[in-house]
Amino acid sequence: MKSLLQLIALAATVSIGGIATAANFRTVVIDAGHGGHDNGGQWGRVYEKHLALDTAYRLESKLKALGYQTVMTRRSDYFISLPQRVSTGNRYNNAIFVSIHYNYTWKQNVSGLETFYSTEQGRRLAYHVQNSLIKRTRTVDRKVKYARFYVIRNSRLPAILVEGGFVSNEAERSRMKSAWFRDSIAQGIADGIQRYRREY
Ligand SMILES: [Zn+2]
Repeated sequence: MKSLLQLIALAATVSIGGIATAANFRTVVIDAGHGGHDNGGQWGRVYEKHLALDTAYRLESKLKALGYQTVMTRRSDYFISLPQRVSTGNRYNNAIFVSIHYNYTWKQNVSGLETFYSTEQGRRLAYHVQNSLIKRTRTVDRKVKYARFYVIRNSRLPAILVEGGFVSNEAERSRMKSAWFRDSIAQGIADGIQRYRREY
């Protein structure tokens, strides 16, 4: 029979083990939204799928420079299903999952940035990424939100979905067309990932 001390020691090991797993993550799964026949949000020749992929590449190079390992769910303009995106991410341990999107709505005056999570472990990551994004871009803060989007709901990893502004908003659309803006989105996400890791 285990003594009380042994049980306490066991509980401590389990809890430290849990924290260590999160602290040690070194892989970031980057999911560029849409692709192929799925254009995502679209205004004229501005397609969400292209903006998302470009931002994903920028994020990848920033994270590699910081020493992270990266995995991209797609590397060019082709279609992959939502379950494929999730199963790519779920192959990795000690990893986080970041899905990149740009938003669209028929209300053309709506603007701003938002980050979604679906699980408690994703919530803290979302919080750091959203704050860093707002600092970098100085845009409208639509805050961190809970949503049951497929890719973040079904991921085993701490998972977030970033909406980097509205393709349907004229001012945001014109910024999105500029490399510097997509770069600041990527930088904001990278900053947030660093802050999330330092939290542990
Ligand atoms: Zn999207």
